[in-house]
Amino acid sequence: MPFGDGTGPAGQGPGTGRGAGAGAGRGRGRMGGSSPGSGTGGYCICPNCKYRVPHQAGNPCYSIKCPKCGAQMVRE
Ligand SMILES: [Zn+2]
Ligand SMILES: [Zn+2]
Repeated sequence: MPFGDGTGPAGQGPGTGRGAGAGAGRGRGRMGGSSPGSGTGGYCICPNCKYRVPHQAGNPCYSIKCPKCGAQMVRE
């Protein structure tokens, strides 16, 4: 909120923007998430050498081994 800005429309803009944004965000999130809890995206990281690979949905991190050192990957 810009203090000292006496323009009315400035106040209305953010209000409508939030409403539309929240609705679209929730809708997309529910549709995209097939397995709540595990989630999609993110990275699997090697606890040994910190090597990261993009996490694959339906592929548990611990089932992946680090391509560099062979350690068991974990969720970042
Ligand atoms: Zn490693
Ligand atoms: Zn993972």
